[in-house]
Amino acid sequence: GKITIAIDGYSSTGKSTIAKKLANALNYIYVDTGAMYRAVTLHALNNNYLGSEEDIPSLIADLPKIDLNFVPNPALEMSEMFLNGKNVEREIRAMEVSRHVSKVATIPEVRHKLVEMQQQMGMDKGLVMDGRDIGTVVFPDAELKIYMTASPKARATRRYKELLDRGEIVSYEEVLENVQKRDFIDSTREVSPLRKADDAIEFDNSDMGLEEQFERVYASAKR
Ligand code: C5P
Repeated sequence: GKITIAIDGYSSTGKSTIAKKLANALNYIYVDTGAMYRAVTLHALNNNYLGSEEDIPSLIADLPKIDLNFVPNPALEMSEMFLNGKNVEREIRAMEVSRHVSKVATIPEVRHKLVEMQQQMGMDKGLVMDGRDIGTVVFPDAELKIYMTASPKARATRRYKELLDRGEIVSYEEVLENVQKRDFIDSTREVSPLRKADDAIEFDNSDMGLEEQFERVYASAKR
């Protein structure tokens, strides 16, 4: 049968790593909903809708023609995000996108479009989906809900390493500030703020290794 697993939590808690591993082990589809918000943000940046002369109405007007696709890349054993036919998997992880994405994610029209797409992906397939509102809004009836937490320091350290690995010039302080700012916006916004679903299992992985985290989540999934 088809089973839906929802994984939510603050940024850089290691959600996507666990979700990917879990999807591979169970032979399910993995969907990174953060990538979708990031791609819409990239579109807005490319069209100068963000920054000093902000133009949110134009972004909203563009929504019907923003085409998002997850395209499987067998060599990488993962799907990559395509925005209007272009592979943007790398670009959407840039710090510039991280700076603006939480603002874009407060726009009700943006959320409406993306939530609808996400719900359709779950129509006929078993999947593991990670994000901020999966267990609360996208799939309130998900069979398994996980809520991941970790200290801001642990998360900023993780994100900082990722950014350094891809050659971005950032300081640890800047990354910590970005993580905390996004947490604040994501948990206080009016439309579907980040919160733990009542029936979600909570994992704090500040001091937990990847293998241990995975074993614990996988054990819950098999139950
Ligand atoms: O998961 P990731 O950190 O890539 O997500 C980037 C941003 O997208 C989050 O900080 C949040 O503002 C937004 N987001 C959201 N709802 C989701 C997934 C991501 O609002 N389901």
